[in-house]
Amino acid sequence: MEYGNKPHTNAHCLVLPFPIQGHINPMLQFSKRLEHKGVRVTLALTHFIFNKTKHSHQSSASSITAETISDGYDGEEAPSIEEYLTRFRCIGSETLTALVEKLRRSGQPVDCIIYDSFVPWALDVAKELGLVGAAFLTQSCAVCNVYYNVFSGGLEIPVTAAEEIRVPGLPPPPLWVADLPSFVGVPESYPALLDVVVSQFANLGEADWVLGNTFHKLEEEVVDWMANIWPMRTIGPTIPSMYLDKRLLNDREYGLSMFNPKTSDCMNWLDQHPNGSVVYVSFGSVAELGLKQMEELTLGLKNTNCYFLWVVRATEEAKLPKNFAAETAEKGLVVSWCPQLEVLAHPGVGCFVTHCGWNSTLEALSLGVPMVGIPQWTDQPTNAKYVMDVWGTGVRARPDGDGLVTGAEVERCVREVMEGERGNEIRKNAMKWRELAKEAVGEGGSSDKNIDEFVTSLIRF
Ligand code: UDP
Repeated sequence: MEYGNKPHTNAHCLVLPFPIQGHINPMLQFSKRLEHKGVRVTLALTHFIFNKTKHSHQSSASSITAETISDGYDGEEAPSIEEYLTRFRCIGSETLTALVEKLRRSGQPVDCIIYDSFVPWALDVAKELGLVGAAFLTQSCAVCNVYYNVFSGGLEIPVTAAEEIRVPGLPPPPLWVADLPSFVGVPESYPALLDVVVSQFANLGEADWVLGNTFHKLEEEVVDWMANIWPMRTIGPTIPSMYLDKRLLNDREYGLSMFNPKTSDCMNWLDQHPNGSVVYVSFGSVAELGLKQMEELTLGLKNTNCYFLWVVRATEEAKLPKNFAAETAEKGLVVSWCPQLEVLAHPGVGCFVTHCGWNSTLEALSLGVPMVGIPQWTDQPTNAKYVMDVWGTGVRARPDGDGLVTGAEVERCVREVMEGERGNEIRKNAMKWRELAKEAVGEGGSSDKNIDEFVTSLIRF
């Protein structure tokens, strides 16, 4: 059970996620695992995230509390990503230090800072204060390894090779430019973000722990390779047990959502459809589709003739063709946000058309849902490559010469997963990975043991 008897350890971790939804979710879920093992957890959220997620704060089922630090803007718009990151580093370090002091004064001394590897300055704060510093990797180990090789000079960028790319530590299949994280293929596109992902490794050698949101069997070779460099442990997937084991589905679950999920609309709608008949579509919390891409997607979805549940965030809604929702009401439901884990765990869902963000990929994989990958940027192309060519749990849509995934291609991919012979193979693989994910986080599984080892070290500390 997720919230059973809690052994008492007296250990106290301060958990600091990078302030975006896709980083908050896995770090919160990991916090809940720690809480279950008897560790006291305090989340350090920026004022902006704290206020934005207020509607979903705290369930009585958990003792995890949230405290605030400042990113230097606190909701005001930063002039640029570069300036935001610089100020966050400076003000964030100061206010994180102040928070640790405040907790000490109030009789809740912190033992360990578990920080998102996107904010490596938090390790400096931990070391300065004599605390354990644990880096949390929110992306796949394959992706982290590509960035590490850019950092260490093992992979020179920009990567323009028209031939296969070999990345030290990454097992076959070989990668092509289109399979690499977008910042590496086109470094000039987002130089500040490229700097963030590469700088994760600048002080990682000083971290006491490096915790990866993955599981050993999923990325065995690269995890072992990384473990030769850092005190690396896999602790994922950070999915609540209730979703991995449907007998627990009545447990209470809570999250910190920056968006308002249309929970009952989605779940009631899904209940009305046969098992495996619905295509669930979502591009996560950040990606923005071009107008033309949106048009092609609507066309493709319509032509599959499948039922579909499509998350179109409020900021993207104007890109939908006029009257789309009304015209397709018989077949589809469009919502601005959904409870994704609940949706993926619903038997009505037969396939997930996804941007292949790491959380979405790991969630679908762990819940046995076949995928159609339409990656947009950052680590998504690499995740999509692994979904199709390594884990065999989905297909990746092929863009045309202009980078557009046409309606015909969307339809081909969805049909392949939902109907074709290949679909049977994909479903078989999806089931296999679901079982392996469950095993990893179940009692005595590889990730569960690693979490125990981490917790025990905190008790000793
Ligand atoms: N998510 C959700 N409801 C939605 C869409 C997404 O709860 O309607 C959650 C999803 O379960 C995942 C996260 O938002 O945990 C998205 O993270 P991911 O890494 O997939 O993509 P990102 O948003 O970082 O691009």
